[in-house]
Amino acid sequence: MRGRRGIYSLRGRKAWALCAALPCFAGTLLAACLHAGVWEPAGFTGTPHPAPPAESVPAHIVALDPGHGGYDSGANALVQELPVCERTVDLLYALLEQDANYTPMRTRPNGEDRKISERAETATAAHAEILLSVHANCDTSTRQSHGFECFPTPPGRTHSEGAMRLAQCIAQGMGEAGHRLRGENGIRFAYYSGKHKHIVDSTDTKVREMKSFGIVERPDCPAVLVEQCFLTNYEDVETWASEEGCARAARIYYEAICAYFGTEPLKST
Ligand SMILES: [Zn+2]
Repeated sequence: MRGRRGIYSLRGRKAWALCAALPCFAGTLLAACLHAGVWEPAGFTGTPHPAPPAESVPAHIVALDPGHGGYDSGANALVQELPVCERTVDLLYALLEQDANYTPMRTRPNGEDRKISERAETATAAHAEILLSVHANCDTSTRQSHGFECFPTPPGRTHSEGAMRLAQCIAQGMGEAGHRLRGENGIRFAYYSGKHKHIVDSTDTKVREMKSFGIVERPDCPAVLVEQCFLTNYEDVETWASEEGCARAARIYYEAICAYFGTEPLKST
């Protein structure tokens, strides 16, 4: 936890205000107690006090990477990939921003492209604790493919374990929402040999020297690239790439991030 969001939490401020109003404490005693970390002096039998102010917990910094950007619009199928990525990230950003446990940041501004290395550097410079890269798939050959898959940092890298845990949280949420999980569990590793891409299921944990997606290897934090759905499949597009679909996916990513960090998600509105 390296980020800082305000010095005092709202809860902390409220508790301070309440205490200041308590008539039973002399100001000096209150100050002494606060500084000493002693909230209730021995033998004190007054009315119940508010809980001690919670220590300010630094917010988790979450890097959000909308795939493609600018002139690179990604897959062009029933709908374009780029707006699906940016819309989902916008919605996820808003969810995280409302939650005091998180500080979201983007790896690029909407409407612009960035090299993968720049995106990774941006996330690392911001001390991001995890990175989520949002993409959508397409199958222009058979147009039969559908479902969700995600690609964590592969085995043998510094952040493999954390990335796998985040991927599991996300895939579980997608599965529970009724999305088809591709492969064995919706989690796969991608490797490149020259220009050839090799995809293996996450049960294949052999450590390979081959490069994976730059966005899951380069940031100095666990990273997962999600392929939200297939833009060549009508049902996938309707359920996971429409406005409601992007919101549905964003909510699942948000809850998965909360599960990863062990925080209680805010209720959906
Ligand atoms: Zn893409």
